[in-house]
Amino acid sequence: MSNTNFGVWRPMAENVEFNALESNSNAVMVVADTVRTTLGPKGLDKLLIDQAMNRHVSNDGVTILLSLRTIHPIARMIVEIAERQEQMVGDGTTTAVVMAAEMIKEGKRLIKELSVHPTKVVEGIESGVRHACSLIKRDARKIKLDDVELDQVIRTSLSSKLDGHNLSQLVISALRAVGDHAIYNGEYNFDKATKVIRRTNIEDKIVNGIVLERKRLDPEMPYEVKDAKIMIAKFDLKPVKESWLKENSKYEEILAMESDRVSKSKEIVDAMLATGANTFLLSSSEIDETIEDLLVIRKVIAVRISTDEIEYLSRYTGAKPVRMIEELSRPDILGKANYVYEDEDKEVIYIENASGKKMVTIIVSGSTKETSIERWRASIDGVNAAEAALNHGIVPGGGAAELHIIEKVKDLKLKGLEQVGLEVVTAALESIMRQILTNAGYNGLEKIMTAKASPDDFGIDIDTGDLTNMWKKGVIDPLLVKTMALEAAGEIAKSVLRIDRNLAAEDLTPESVSEIKR
Ligand code: ADP
Ligand code: MG
Repeated sequence: MSNTNFGVWRPMAENVEFNALESNSNAVMVVADTVRTTLGPKGLDKLLIDQAMNRHVSNDGVTILLSLRTIHPIARMIVEIAERQEQMVGDGTTTAVVMAAEMIKEGKRLIKELSVHPTKVVEGIESGVRHACSLIKRDARKIKLDDVELDQVIRTSLSSKLDGHNLSQLVISALRAVGDHAIYNGEYNFDKATKVIRRTNIEDKIVNGIVLERKRLDPEMPYEVKDAKIMIAKFDLKPVKESWLKENSKYEEILAMESDRVSKSKEIVDAMLATGANTFLLSSSEIDETIEDLLVIRKVIAVRISTDEIEYLSRYTGAKPVRMIEELSRPDILGKANYVYEDEDKEVIYIENASGKKMVTIIVSGSTKETSIERWRASIDGVNAAEAALNHGIVPGGGAAELHIIEKVKDLKLKGLEQVGLEVVTAALESIMRQILTNAGYNGLEKIMTAKASPDDFGIDIDTGDLTNMWKKGVIDPLLVKTMALEAAGEIAKSVLRIDRNLAAEDLTPESVSEIKR
């Protein structure tokens, strides 16, 4: 489809765009069209090319949308709902976009062709989305970590991804390996208990512990420590700074400072070693050479870490981050791990069998950087889908859950023209199965008719085109992916449909907007 609204946005005469609904909804369609063909197991990939001719092949809705050079402000909003979906659930971004586009298309039709006032449409969407979410929730089932449905959710989520079958095996084993250790405050939180990293030089594998993509501070340090006593140091490891020297410093002053530096460094290292630690994770911004040398001489292992890494390293090893040298005398600062070692070849450091909360690392491989990125993203989608399923329950996939509540949504009785607004929501509910089937080469509409007339939980088998019970087929989605996608789509549809003009404004930074208000 050719469309001038894609890429560049030019408000028309005198910077006012009178036909905003038309233009905005076109912009939405164009953006939605770029990702809708990726939906489902037979979805196709997109080749992204930037101005420097770098390429990346992707099937992931949010990755594609974020890399688009769209400037149309409404197109940006679509990208934002995909991002929000990604943050809230971590899967279902294409679903959210397809539903949003369908709602806007249908809403525009009601407003333009049937002259329904936008506020009525918006109210219809609000009630419709709320009702649809509670209907889907009612049909959801609970699952546990050992249920086969968990495998099926992960497999469904990864079915459209590059090498999805192998990845789902990897994800399933990793999640079962951490098991209920991933429960925090009564809910599964795999973000805390699993780490997914990508490497082009290591095979796919699951490590019982943490893998840091780092090297030890100095190659002369030992490359392994058994029975590691671990310290996480945040304190200053540069006791005397070069910047203290003045241009006119005298030779004696420099000499005094130098010997001060050496003696202070010794004191620090002695205090560090007096704790009994033999493995040091250092997040201090600068490390004095003498300190480094002394650590090498004392044959301990030290690794630089970033402040982001402190939290999970501390949780996993039980080490309490030490902020000040004075704290070194506290008894409870060290953590433990059976084994810490560096694979020099692969440039990673393994910390295994530590004494804190359990963690596993999934290493995702790839023959090239781009395949490793795509497989890495897919694995994270799988982990997120599993988490959502365990915490909130599951529903039949392939768009079946959405399709079978349409009639019930229609039963909702709203006053006056708001009733018509419900059609916006039912159109969106139908769009998911239709898109999945269209992408698989079927006549989506025809298949939808068959599926609609079938009992709840039935949808179309993507391989044969026949009706099938989605539970039995093992095509299962997390409930949260559906409700979040519906809500996000509803939000953006309401905003877009309410706008009747796009106006060019002077200054819209938050500060100046709040000025105007005053
Ligand atoms: P999203 O970005 O929205 O997660 P995906 O490309 O991952 O998009 O597709 C997810 C959709 O594909 C879900 O609705 C899921 O139920 C559906 N799906 C996955 N496997 C099958 C299958 N074998 N048959 C039908 N639908 C499937
Ligand atoms: Mg998905």
